[in-house]
Parts: sequence; C-alpha cells; structure tokens
Amino acid sequence: MKKETMGFKGGFHLLDAYPLSVCNIIDEISSDSTPETFQFPVFGQKIKHVIVNLCPTEPWALPNWVILKHKTIVFLNMIKEIQKTYFSDARLYLAITEKEDRVVEEARNFAGGEDWIRVFSLSAKYPQDDPVILTKIVLGMDVNFGQDTKPFGILILDPQTISAMHEQGIMRKDVTSRYLALSGTGLRENEIIHVELGTSVEKILKNKVREAVTFRVFINGPLRGKEITDFSQKIDWSVNNIVVLEEKNRKALFPMFKADELAFTTNLIGESRRCVYCNFCDDICPVDLEPALYYHSYVRGEKHKARLYNMGKCIECGLCSFICPSKLELQKIIIECKALGKHE
Ligand code: SF4
Ligand code: SF4
Repeated sequence: MKKETMGFKGGFHLLDAYPLSVCNIIDEISSDSTPETFQFPVFGQKIKHVIVNLCPTEPWALPNWVILKHKTIVFLNMIKEIQKTYFSDARLYLAITEKEDRVVEEARNFAGGEDWIRVFSLSAKYPQDDPVILTKIVLGMDVNFGQDTKPFGILILDPQTISAMHEQGIMRKDVTSRYLALSGTGLRENEIIHVELGTSVEKILKNKVREAVTFRVFINGPLRGKEITDFSQKIDWSVNNIVVLEEKNRKALFPMFKADELAFTTNLIGESRRCVYCNFCDDICPVDLEPALYYHSYVRGEKHKARLYNMGKCIECGLCSFICPSKLELQKIIIECKALGKHE
C-alpha cells in the first residue's frame, strides 16, 4: 500500500484498507411476481450539468466493470447518445476513479477537444463520491447535504442508471432488473447478482448466508446505508449493494489468556467509554468539522449548542464513528442533533 493511501486526513482509503474480491460468476435472481420496471427519471428543471459518477469509494459498492463490461467505448457512446437525446444543452462530466487509469485514458481520448464533455480523474478516497464533494470538485459549487441538486440544474447519475436510460429510452426495451454487489463476513462468498426489481432481500439471501452465524444486514453499506431487520423489503433502483456482517460481540484475546473462561465482549455495560482526545475524528472528517466538539456538547446536554458549530455541513459519511478508538456513536449523535432543527 502506498504511504499516502494509509493516512486518514479528510477521508479514508477504504478500498485499500479493505480490499474485496468477488466471485466473477453473476447469479441471476428472479422475483416471484411480475417484476417492477425502471422508472425513467423526469426532470422538471433545465439540466445544465450531468455528472457521471464512476468513482466508487466503498469496497462493498458495485464496481464499474460490471456495467462497463471492459468495453469503455461502448459505454461512452451510450453517454453521447443520451446527451444528444436528453441533455443537448448540458455539459457532461465523467468523474472516474484514478484507480482505473485505462478507463480514464480511453475517456480522455474519446472526449478529445469536444466541448460537451470533460473528464476528471479522482482519488478514490471515501467519501469522494458523495454528491456534496463531487459537486464541489467537478463544478466548484456548494450544495448542502441531502439537498436536491436538480433545482441548480445539476444531475448526478451512476453508470447503471446511464445504461438503463439508454436501454429503456433509446433502445425502447423495458429494464426490469439491476446489478447488485453482495458482500460481507456473514456470507459464503462475495458476489455480483443480477436481480429483478421487486425481489425481496429474503429471497436474495437464501442459501448465501453462512450457516450458524448471527448476522446484520445493511442496504447500501454500513457507513452511508441503512441496517434492515425486515427482510421482506423489496429491491428498488436505489439499492446498489447489500452487506451482510457476522455479528461479533466477543473480543479476540491474546493467546496467554484463558479465552474460554473469560467472557469479554464488546457490549457496553454501564458507562460508555471515554473520549480520549485523540482528534482522529477531526482529522478524518472530509468537510473539516469537529465531531469531538459535538460529542462533548452533547454529553453536557447542550444539543442545541452543538448545532452552532457548522453541524449542517455534515454529510453523514460515518467516518468519525468508524475511526473513533472509543467507538463513540458520533454520527448517531450528530444526526440526532441535526434533527432538532427540523422539528423546530
Ligand atoms: S459523519 Fe459528519 S462529522 Fe462525521 S466525519 Fe462524516 S462529515 Fe464529518
Ligand atoms: S475519535 Fe473519539 S476518542 Fe478521539 S477525539 Fe474523537 S470522539 Fe474523542
């Protein structure tokens, strides 16, 4: 691993820290009823900028090769047709991970001196692909977390949506399935699946979870996604990946301890752990916030005060909770404090 990818200043190279290999056989999974159909996006506003996000930064996210199929030119021609048909007044921006230098090179050759398309090669540091950060890097514009970018004339699309728009809008074929990445320590193997829209999570996970493990399931990853407990939930177009993690609440002890006799767990019993003022959370925050400050205001009962320190800029990436050695629930606290503003 290169030295510069090991630190955690303003983000974290999750792809280098947790490399993931996936089985390259793509399993087809059908729903047990009529599949749902991809809803072609409707744009009420005039779109001036279309950013195509080809910079996944999470190991569990769907990799680009699944959609590009190692035929970048075919994909680029799709983009060209879409631009001509739907966004003829807009400029296209390809934000491509620098890890895929061949794709970057092919895109640059394709773009040549054309005015309608620009290519950006981006570091794959998480959360570089967050809409707030992408918009800032590519367009130099500020949008807030969770804000709809369309009123600003900005559309951010992933490669799979580009492909579906082409298939349904230009080739006139209904799109009723999508690709998903399935990974995690609770599964027999990491894999890519092609699944009909409307299929339940329960059906997808059938025979894929390791036997005799308790597990937790996250839609769109453990950092930015949501944990689900109702597995009858159906897959819609917004689902990019499912992560299944084995529930581990026991500490692995050094060999000199009698691990069988000592039941140490990671459960909190009584008081939660202390902030050790390491500043790791401040360092890793990609938008220069100070999560420890929020934490200390929160535990003093000053939730409103915490919100005074730019908390609205938080993009809820979860890196502060991830890096905290005391495993304090910083992101959860921030979300709780931010919600106070919404209810006032
Ligand atoms: S969750 Fe918010 S405060 Fe924490 S690191 Fe991410 S942006 Fe910063
Ligand atoms: S990372 Fe955790 S322990 Fe370190 S300063 Fe932040 S809140 Fe405190």
